[in-house]
Amino acid sequence: MPMPSSSQEPRIKALTARAVRVPMPQPHRTASGVVSESPLVLTDITLDSGVVGRSITFTYTPLALGPTTDLIRNIEPLLMGNAAAPAEISRGLAARFRLLGAQGLIGMALAAIDMALWDGLAHTHSVSLAHLLGGLPKPTQAYGAIGYDGPDESAKAAEGWAQRGFRGVKAKIGYPTVAEDVSVIRAIRRAAGEGTAVMVDYNQSLTPSEAVERLRILDAEGLTWVEEPSLAHDYAGHAKVAREARTPIQAGENWWGITDFAHALEADATDFVMADVMKVGGVTGWLEAAALANAHRIRMSNHLWPEISAQLLSVTPTAHWLEYADWWNPILADPLRIKDGMSDPAGAIGSGTEWNEAAVQRFLV
Ligand SMILES: [Mg+2]
Repeated sequence: MPMPSSSQEPRIKALTARAVRVPMPQPHRTASGVVSESPLVLTDITLDSGVVGRSITFTYTPLALGPTTDLIRNIEPLLMGNAAAPAEISRGLAARFRLLGAQGLIGMALAAIDMALWDGLAHTHSVSLAHLLGGLPKPTQAYGAIGYDGPDESAKAAEGWAQRGFRGVKAKIGYPTVAEDVSVIRAIRRAAGEGTAVMVDYNQSLTPSEAVERLRILDAEGLTWVEEPSLAHDYAGHAKVAREARTPIQAGENWWGITDFAHALEADATDFVMADVMKVGGVTGWLEAAALANAHRIRMSNHLWPEISAQLLSVTPTAHWLEYADWWNPILADPLRIKDGMSDPAGAIGSGTEWNEAAVQRFLV
């Protein structure tokens, strides 16, 4: 994949990918089981200038940790000696993997490289990622997550987020009955106070007709959004739910790249979008999705990756909410701060992804 380059541009010298299993500060209960650790691949790309760019890949299950780490390492020879030009490299690698497809583990590996290169480029210029992209780091209203924990535990978690100043909370629901969903929502509302936005997430668990039925009832609860009521890639189903419900629908964290975003928005599948910086294709993919969301005048939030997402939301024209999570804080030297319920990405260089190396060593697989 040779690319033209002038002599001043830094070139890629080396890539390392390390697998870690990071225990969560608190286990996170979902409808499909308890998540107690984050399997992550930490990618470092060293440029010939000595600058290092870093990124985090989240493999959800430890079963995918080894293969994803290997994939990222296997791509190193394709990068060596190339100019550190992430958008150019992203296009080149997408073409290279067109027959296999750039979703799943390949998509994750390509995003790892893209994010690390953008981070390295921002470090080359000693600026934040937002600044490198032509903007400035700025605050975004932030919400915290609540697991599938029933009314009492959910209320306790909501109170905790509200006490820390967060402007919103998002709970996993999809209990056996809609009455239980409502009781969890009301318990959260009581605990968090009227000024706190409440979102809920069905994690794709309903059929479109079930979702329409439940939303007829949830429409009275004043929710800020209902997330992924139905299968993420059933755009027609989501469009039906979005048409019938008064509550805004949120989706996007499981869409792979700009083509999924385009198809979903063409189908009017959702009122809001949230991009997962890994699945959307790294920084390069995020910028495309942000442009598309802006063209459709749809508000855009992030999924996980609070540090790099806070930078990217700073340059997203329709930026909406920052999803905060502290899951990966143990391995970060300087995790994203929250101030007055808003992200506080000022002062970061690059994407804000610096390792706490001692912790990384402890969690290495
Ligand atoms: Mg979700």
